[in-house]
Amino acid sequence: MVDTRHRPRIVVLGGGVGGTLTANLLARRLGTRAQVTLVDRTGLHIYQPSFLYAAFRPLPTRSLGRDLRSLLRRDIRLVVDEVTTIDPASRTAGLRHGQNLEYDFLVIALGSQLAPERIPGLAEGSHNFYSLAGAQRLHTALHEFSGGTVLVGVAGIPYKCPPAPIEFTFLLDDYLRRRGLRSATTIRFLSPLNRAFTIASASRMIEPIFEERRIELHTFVNVAAVDPEKHIVTTLEDETYDYDLAVIVPPHTTPAVLRNAGLTDGDWVPVDRQTLAVRGQENVYAIGDCTDLPISKAGSTAHFEARVVAERITAAVEQRPVDPTRGTYHGKVMCFLETGGGKATYLVFDYDHEPRPPQPSRIWHLGKAVLNQAYWVTVPQGRL
Ligand SMILES: Cc1cc2nc3c(=O)[nH]c(=O)nc-3n(C[C@H](O)[C@H](O)[C@H](O)COP(=O)(O)OP(=O)(O)OC[C@H]3O[C@@H](n4cnc5c(N)ncnc54)[C@H](O)[C@@H]3O)c2cc1C
Repeated sequence: MVDTRHRPRIVVLGGGVGGTLTANLLARRLGTRAQVTLVDRTGLHIYQPSFLYAAFRPLPTRSLGRDLRSLLRRDIRLVVDEVTTIDPASRTAGLRHGQNLEYDFLVIALGSQLAPERIPGLAEGSHNFYSLAGAQRLHTALHEFSGGTVLVGVAGIPYKCPPAPIEFTFLLDDYLRRRGLRSATTIRFLSPLNRAFTIASASRMIEPIFEERRIELHTFVNVAAVDPEKHIVTTLEDETYDYDLAVIVPPHTTPAVLRNAGLTDGDWVPVDRQTLAVRGQENVYAIGDCTDLPISKAGSTAHFEARVVAERITAAVEQRPVDPTRGTYHGKVMCFLETGGGKATYLVFDYDHEPRPPQPSRIWHLGKAVLNQAYWVTVPQGRL
């Protein structure tokens, strides 16, 4: 039950795609009828899709991240601090600098974090482009690379943006061709599955392009350890792969505060597939990368989910039934996938429908380029 003696206090944790959009939608729809607070530990809104490109060329700072305040409606209270505790019993979120925020509704949008420590040698022996610092280090390593064997892979499922390692591989092929190093380089893509990509229909499109570009696909490869000295990846299947450069996406987990609060089942926050309510909690929702939903961890997932949670909380504050059209998540995800050579395709799917990606073309590549630019004035504000 919501305490009707004061304006409902809605606390949104995390200022990434999901949290920023949810806070803006709620403030827009509820105005002065609720108090919306957003907490983020950095006060920066980072656009992670830009990391893919930052591995190949330096990008202007404004493409990578912006001041969170500049993306939020003025009526939202922004608290720049780290959430260190969440206590659903007393409905409070504790912050590093001592403040305790009380809430009537809580939206958890804290994303995922990388856990390279789960694979011995991974942090020391391999690169990745899943953080800005990682992408910048990889950029330097690529610049210094003069040919040999490159391994690209993932070291755990689920990981965010499943297309990103495939896109990286295609862009790497382009990059090495431009530098005249392609014939001196073997590219091996290591997949833990029986195919290149998590979704079969997309794999059927990707694998022939791998073949065309002489990118070797190795299936059922589960990375167990990396030897940074000898430059060898060992797998759970007892195979070894030598490399000159390894680009391996680390395992993912949730921020520790969620695990410490007992809000996770294993690594992820269990939520209802349709309502996004955290199982076993009242008036607590979770969206984006931190959930256990059987769907891609992607910015577009968080984007579609934010609208559902905004409708459900708005309905509760207005004490009316939820509009089932706006307030139900069907697992929708939409993302572009770079296929190299200035082309891309796109994937649209949901819980019940696989994507049917169109043939790669220049149009979809331009579509992704436009979205990367337009993102800042559309997605976080709910204009798309
Ligand atoms: C290389 C790469 C390419 C990608 N490309 C795409 C793409 O093309 N399309 C797409 O849809 N998705 C893409 N993604 C995935 C997308 O970026 C994520 O899925 C998305 O950002 C998830 O949104 P979120 O709101 O759940 O979490 P995030 O955007 O990660 O936001 C979480 C926020 O919580 C804050 N936070 C964490 N812990 C705390 C704490 N304890 N206290 C306070 N604040 C905290 C963080 O600072 C952060 O601001 C890509 C990701 C990567 C790495």
